[in-house]
Amino acid sequence: MKLIENWFSERYSENLELSFRVKDLLLSVKTDYQRIDVFDTYDFGKLLTIDGTVQMTEYDEFVYHEMITSVPLACLHSASASRALVIGGGDGGTARRLVNLGFKNIVNVEIDNHVVEVAKRFFPDLTSVFGDGSAKLVIGDGIEFVKNCTDKFDVVIVDSTDPEGPAQGLFSTEFYRNISRILTEGGIMVTQSGSPYYQPHALKLAVSGMKPVFREVKTYLAFIPTYPSGLWSFTLGGDSVSVDGNRTPPSGKYFNDDVLEGCFRLPEFIKKLIAEAT
Ligand code: SAM
Repeated sequence: MKLIENWFSERYSENLELSFRVKDLLLSVKTDYQRIDVFDTYDFGKLLTIDGTVQMTEYDEFVYHEMITSVPLACLHSASASRALVIGGGDGGTARRLVNLGFKNIVNVEIDNHVVEVAKRFFPDLTSVFGDGSAKLVIGDGIEFVKNCTDKFDVVIVDSTDPEGPAQGLFSTEFYRNISRILTEGGIMVTQSGSPYYQPHALKLAVSGMKPVFREVKTYLAFIPTYPSGLWSFTLGGDSVSVDGNRTPPSGKYFNDDVLEGCFRLPEFIKKLIAEAT
């Protein structure tokens, strides 16, 4: 990773980049799967990137991690949900939030051990759940794990990189079919489905991949300052995807009852993208 006059830039298109002025490049490592960099930024604390794309920052990670956990939990129709599977998420943020929400049985499957090791070093608050036994960490390919899995889960959370390289298959119908097989009755899955503005293909892939598998598929949105365009999508799949007022998780720093209600209200261009994803 080369810093130009202490600025890290993520390129969104030929004509647009988001640039962070950084104090330092703390680490840069090339693994079998991807390149991982950690920067110390002025405005967002430590920043983790994979292949030059922002994965998380210290100061705004709460939005992504609250929204990828609390919304599916609010829609769970499983009476006593306790088992969760996270695919990806090697930074530990999703598993940590599940622990805070009272989940006792969490399995987290991350393909790249280096992501976990880097996060342990630079984001120890997030990864502590892997060391203290609150979540079981499996290093392996989530696609293979789900294919061969014989356990059942109430919620499956796909906290992946964008649909390229090792994460490509995490946006396929076959993968979603295997997830539906390991969901308990009333269980639900969610995947991050990219920036509707800059990555409409990711949202369309997720929706078109899930539609043949799940009776209901619903997209919701969150505002994440350091992700492309700030507007981010997540897509849920299950037999019934509607908010169950009895199960709404407690408010966080971003998530609350109002956000839960509003996040399903989609702008017209996103409704159109979803309609096109057949
Ligand atoms: N919040 C992030 C975002 O949307 O930019 C995602 C963060 S998390 C670090 C994504 C993780 O998915 C990475 O650590 C990556 O190694 C992992 N991953 C990618 N493909 C995978 C696969 N097939 N199985 C398991 N983990 C995978």
